[in-house]
Amino acid sequence: MFLGAHVSVSKGYEYALKQALDINGTTMQFFTRNPRGSKAKALNMEDIKKSSLLAKEKGFGPFVAHAPYTLNLATYKEDLWEFAKDILKDDLERMGTVGVPYLVVHPGSHLGKGEEYAQNRIINALNSVIKGDEKTMVLLETMAGMGSEVGYTFQQLKAIIDGVDYPEKIGVCFDSCHLFAAGYDIKDNLDEVLSEFDKIIGISKLKAFHVNDSIFPIGSRKDRHANIGEGKIGLEALKRILTHTKLRHLPFILETPGGIDTYRKEISLLKDLIKKEESR
Ligand code: FE
Ligand code: FE
Ligand code: ZN
Repeated sequence: MFLGAHVSVSKGYEYALKQALDINGTTMQFFTRNPRGSKAKALNMEDIKKSSLLAKEKGFGPFVAHAPYTLNLATYKEDLWEFAKDILKDDLERMGTVGVPYLVVHPGSHLGKGEEYAQNRIINALNSVIKGDEKTMVLLETMAGMGSEVGYTFQQLKAIIDGVDYPEKIGVCFDSCHLFAAGYDIKDNLDEVLSEFDKIIGISKLKAFHVNDSIFPIGSRKDRHANIGEGKIGLEALKRILTHTKLRHLPFILETPGGIDTYRKEISLLKDLIKKEESR
């Protein structure tokens, strides 16, 4: 199992990796650029080389990149749609250069145009960006279904994957808080949720997992992350996720509130629980 947290690469990849190692992480996630989508910093190849060497030496798991959350591939506003496609294209290329296998993207929001409109808009955007020779895979994140967000059901994600020219370049990233808020009972019926996903999309499409507790109850459609064990999902259920035979090979990323010291505590909390479970 690889367990890590969302860190910043604003001081470089090697710096971020050292921070990830310092909190006993074995993987990490970072924004491809400022989360609001401003211009990306030029890549420093020396820094990238150092970080990949160090990652290899430490047996670190795959890096996971996250696109700016302001991108909306579903928007009907032409200028914002073009902007989102340009950023996604640039980020995919840049992450390919860095050697990051996965780029997590929020599918988008329909802004009143309806879910089908949004799905088609997202499909068209992905088809204009992805040409089939990318080294980095786009992971559609499961959403809470807040506002007009799409991608909060497996059927919606399936419709998008079915519509693209290169489905082999698309995967899925689960987020425990979002799944729960969207109504998937990962707390008491994890097996059922996984077999539903397997039936609709295929479990092999699942490539990364955001581990967050949820402030709001199941089906609330509200995306508010809680600290590990302090929300409505709870420690036991999160432990079951991390140790599940169908999931435990994945990179697990914490996106909980509190910053680096909280991440350190939560990683050690989860690791201790898993150790206890495995020695039973
Ligand atoms: Fe996200
Ligand atoms: Fe997430
Ligand atoms: Zn969230």
